[in-house]
Amino acid sequence: MGISGLHAVIVPFPAQRTINPLINLAQLLSSRGVVITFVNMDWSHKCMSKAAHNDDEPTFKFLNIPDGLPPDHGRLANLAESVIAMENLGPVLEHHLLSSSSDGKTPPVTCIITENFMSCTHQVAKKLGVPRVIFWTLCATSSIAQCNANLLLSHGHIPVKVEDSKRAEKVITCLPGNLPPLLPSDLFSFYRATDTSGVLFQWALRESQFQSKADYVLVNTFDELEPPETVSALSCNGCPALAVGPVFLPNFLEGRDLNGRGSLLEQDESCLKWLDAQDPASVIYVSFGSIAVKSNEQLEELAIGLEKSQHPFLWVLRMDIAGGMPATLPEGFEERTKDRGLIVKWAPQVKVLSHPSVGGFISHCGWNSCLESMSMGIPILGWPYSADQFLDCRFCKDVWKIGIDLEGVDVDENLVIKREEIERGVRRLMEGKEAQELRKRGMELKGAAFKAVGQGGSSFTNLNRFIHDMTQLSKSASVKRAYPQSIPSIC
Ligand code: UDP
Repeated sequence: MGISGLHAVIVPFPAQRTINPLINLAQLLSSRGVVITFVNMDWSHKCMSKAAHNDDEPTFKFLNIPDGLPPDHGRLANLAESVIAMENLGPVLEHHLLSSSSDGKTPPVTCIITENFMSCTHQVAKKLGVPRVIFWTLCATSSIAQCNANLLLSHGHIPVKVEDSKRAEKVITCLPGNLPPLLPSDLFSFYRATDTSGVLFQWALRESQFQSKADYVLVNTFDELEPPETVSALSCNGCPALAVGPVFLPNFLEGRDLNGRGSLLEQDESCLKWLDAQDPASVIYVSFGSIAVKSNEQLEELAIGLEKSQHPFLWVLRMDIAGGMPATLPEGFEERTKDRGLIVKWAPQVKVLSHPSVGGFISHCGWNSCLESMSMGIPILGWPYSADQFLDCRFCKDVWKIGIDLEGVDVDENLVIKREEIERGVRRLMEGKEAQELRKRGMELKGAAFKAVGQGGSSFTNLNRFIHDMTQLSKSASVKRAYPQSIPSIC
């Protein structure tokens, strides 16, 4: 048993978006003496092992379990079937946890820390008689909206009509947490469905009922972005709700590349050498995360927009970026831009964003990408694709003021953005007064993120409090899941 006496089972949704922050959280807890079992699906573990560099082995063990889908299933390429498989994972997870703890060497489990979209863990935690901690891998504001989906439904904000975003009377003010007013287009894109019986629509609604039943809540954000009064709205039953992010940052600052260890694809480190040869803050980094797809028509407009902007670029073009089709770029594009452009299949993103040659990020605004960019002081040109990315993009622009966006992307994810608009966006991000202001704000947010995770900072202190609370809880033999009423002293 580690020095804290705690054994946390950590359960991500098997996607890059949640594996990265959870593996970083696992390492932070492990460094503080918590024994960790990190649960992977067989397939995600295989991908991680294949992609990993050996020099960043974490100090905890993995438990690999089958997800119940056939071996040749496309997994995240078929999100609807994947989410249902995860919803039904409970019995398999329970079985494997029980058999792995029967070896006499593994200490008893004292809590389950789960990503917010893994409701299957609710029942497992109940059976094991341990608290279920939800770790929100979204910003607190998106998390509050998601966990109050049924409230939004009763107020008629769900299903979302994005065209209402232009109508002042449709602004959303019914959510707790003293949030800035939300626009309909800020809500999870799964709720944009006109067919409310759709799998993702119904799944997200079902998940929200379990999200409000957590025994303890952590969220990957920090005070400067979202204050404690906002974060505490994530507690629906009086349990503590604490900001502990950005969780990748302390590991990064200590020289541990956990994003590299958790990567499902091999990161092409050769781009770092290429960056070394570029001027300071001159390169625009282009990446749309692990899932977003773009049509070949859109990729062509983007390529020409980048070319016309004249700025150096590093572009992550995933193998599956065109959704199963081979990606095609305009004829002669690579030859014409070879002196100032580099294309890779998957990059070591945090290392790229922290490289002094990078000056801007064209991003889909996945929450990890936003946090990583802010923590490195890099302004964002937002181009959301799905889920919470619409809110992240708008908040980067209007609330946190570290970003701008492309015209029309907030309400129409299928809109083909023209080359002229992309060129204009890149110039706004990289040149002139607006770019200077964004960089200044980037530096402020970077300072705030570093402060939050540093010794005595808000996220650092909150993580210690979490460990303290879990220790108290595990010591208290009489208390099972009746938290927090049973131990008011730590709430
Ligand atoms: N990432 C990476 N290499 C890339 C692109 C992304 O390592 O070329 C990582 C990135 O650092 C982030 C994660 O993949 O931690 C993507 O998460 P995010 O929430 O930004 O978006 P998603 O992939 O879920 O759409």
